[in-house]
Amino acid sequence: MWKAMVLALSVTLLFVAGPRSLGPALDSFALVHVSIIDVNAGMVRPGMTVLVAGDRIAEVGPAEQLSVPAGARVIDATGKFLIPGLWDMHVHWYDKQSLKLFTANGVTGVRQMFGYPVHLEWRRELEAGSLAGPRMAMASPIIDGPRPFWPDSIAVSNPEEGRKAVQKVKKWGADFVKVYSYLPRDAYFAIAEESRLGHIPFAGHVPWSVSAAEASDAGQRSIEHLTGVLLACSAQEAEIRNKIPQATPFTGRAGIEARAIQTYDEKKARALFERFIKNGTWQCPTLTVLRSSAYLDDKDFRDDRRLKYMPAQVRQRWERREESRFGNRNAASNDALAKAIYSRYLELVGAMNRAGVQIIAGTDTGNPYCFPGFSLHDELGLLVKSGLTAAEALRTATINPARYLGVEDRLGTVEKGKFADLVLLEANPLDDIHNTHRITTVVQGGQLLDRKALDKMLVQP
Ligand SMILES: [Zn+2]
Repeated sequence: MWKAMVLALSVTLLFVAGPRSLGPALDSFALVHVSIIDVNAGMVRPGMTVLVAGDRIAEVGPAEQLSVPAGARVIDATGKFLIPGLWDMHVHWYDKQSLKLFTANGVTGVRQMFGYPVHLEWRRELEAGSLAGPRMAMASPIIDGPRPFWPDSIAVSNPEEGRKAVQKVKKWGADFVKVYSYLPRDAYFAIAEESRLGHIPFAGHVPWSVSAAEASDAGQRSIEHLTGVLLACSAQEAEIRNKIPQATPFTGRAGIEARAIQTYDEKKARALFERFIKNGTWQCPTLTVLRSSAYLDDKDFRDDRRLKYMPAQVRQRWERREESRFGNRNAASNDALAKAIYSRYLELVGAMNRAGVQIIAGTDTGNPYCFPGFSLHDELGLLVKSGLTAAEALRTATINPARYLGVEDRLGTVEKGKFADLVLLEANPLDDIHNTHRITTVVQGGQLLDRKALDKMLVQP
């Protein structure tokens, strides 16, 4: 009965124009003799021409059959590979200047996971063409329990406040409701019901007070960071949960995960994955941030050449590592435990993928060493490491986000009629997923950005 409440997002505001401020008005161009990556089939279609007119893909066909209209610019793409624009489905980004780093890395769409008024502003500017950056789907402010983990969250203590919060964020303009770790049980289920009644999806963390299976049954559209998933695979799930202190915030995830790993129940896991599939519950594992939190004490990990692209205040915040989630790991044993849990997360993602659970790629950009744009490519590599094929990994950032957002008819593949969000690569990403790094051209909303234009966008602050 809950199946019906898994709703596609309402995305009327999502279709912002391309970064028009970066160049002249949109005109027509053709990529000829290009190899298109068909992400659905996981195949290369060589020798194709893709014609772009305005912000749309006007035509796709074999190069020898498709004639390029007079006046359209012809770009010889022999030996190059074309993929749909990439989506990072879990970001927190608040710096306007560096928003273009997403586009410069072929990330033509993002899902903002903690909506602020500034994001509504950006969306208007993106639409007007006065700001360069990706398309944006937007969460509500985080809705959390009576003592929220993050400042600016909406604090909710009971079902009534939960319902009011949903009504408020819907009116405010969020595409979906973001739920968080410290919500009381009854408030969480009230939020789920109010979301269903209000035809607005809800997504986020599985709260400590709720099982991942219950969250799936309640219609949560996606589970972020694998929250609650290992625990729900444990033969002793109830016993472990009963011991979690009610006083929040509770930051003992590592201890819980360690016990869940020791009591992992293959049969329970299989049933849980089946449930995710039946209910249409997506996973956004964000392996990038899970790795970051496990490796933050490694000097080699922190010595990342991409730091130079980060605004000073972001860099400082990351270096200080003030956040309690990453701190307090002085003991070598804690460090080893964090790494062991991380490698178990990789296996978990592989197992869910083999079972057929739907996955979207997200990084948690904004958190330490999760870089805007750059890190989405890391995430694809980590998904392959966890057992996805290169084609499956590509889907998690292209067609799967389009399906998740309910806009498969407009985005997610290189097909006639869809928005012209495209990434041209030097080498075949199906041979090696790391080839998504080798970008020669990005097209965002029909705006052509060649390597020279992209390098300009990568200027350090
Ligand atoms: Zn996040």
